[in-house]
Amino acid sequence: GPAARPQLWFDGALADVETLQADLTTHAMHYGSGVFEGIRAYATADGAAVFRLPEHMERMRRGAVLLGMDFDVDAAIEAVLATLRANRHRDAYIRPLAWFGAGGFGLDVEGHPQHMMVSTTATRVHLCGARATVGVSSWRRNPADSLPPLKLCGAYVNSILAKRESKARGFDEALFVDRDGYVVECTGANLFAVSGGRVTAVEHRDALPGITRDTLIALTGAEVRPLTLEELLAADEVFACGTAAELAPIARIEDRGYGDNPVSRELAALYGRVIRGHESASAAWLTPV
Ligand code: PMP
Repeated sequence: GPAARPQLWFDGALADVETLQADLTTHAMHYGSGVFEGIRAYATADGAAVFRLPEHMERMRRGAVLLGMDFDVDAAIEAVLATLRANRHRDAYIRPLAWFGAGGFGLDVEGHPQHMMVSTTATRVHLCGARATVGVSSWRRNPADSLPPLKLCGAYVNSILAKRESKARGFDEALFVDRDGYVVECTGANLFAVSGGRVTAVEHRDALPGITRDTLIALTGAEVRPLTLEELLAADEVFACGTAAELAPIARIEDRGYGDNPVSRELAALYGRVIRGHESASAAWLTPV
């Protein structure tokens, strides 16, 4: 039959992507009053499966509650699965977004309708293992006591500024350092260091509690502690990790190059097997579509 039209979940039902529009007075468009997630589905031997879907939706719920939204984790999980099925996606990037819609230009969210969408995009290229160059940002990360590290839409302006600066300086990515010289995270990924074969997860209160980071800590038994930029530059290897980036060995931070990153490559391969259901640890983390 004819190719199915791309579907998007919007406020409780699937709809053709091109039939959907947002009002120009959308509160979230003016003030960033939304919360989103970035999730991946992978083709496994038993069909498509979503990696750590309940954990992603629980993090989204925390952001939604903070903004004063109602959020039902189970309904959101069903919305994701329904969208993946409708689009017949296997390897896919999943983008749920909850936001406040049309209304007045006041800051109060009351009186604005709450919306929810889920978009899924087929992903063919797997970036796992792609090496990145990183510049140290002159911008500070949103401090947690001003804006908690959740996936709130407006918070990402901070990442956009840092990324723009680093790209203009010729780097792929940016790394945030706090006023005391401690490493926070990248613009959309957490950081790890490897020294003498020992794996360390960067800990910082201003960093997003990443689900990929949590996965890698569980898989490797990595130590978790604050690291200064000095320590990161002195490490044998550094890698970034996130749902979209998967595990990306860092080729260079500013003018400090890191050679071949053998441990990072090995971990990238392990992570690649885990997300595709090839490891015993996988089962608990995959939701069949
Ligand atoms: N930090 C930031 C700022 C991010 O946007 C992301 C991507 N969600 C991450 C870290 C990595 O988090 P996760 O592994 O849950 O995707």
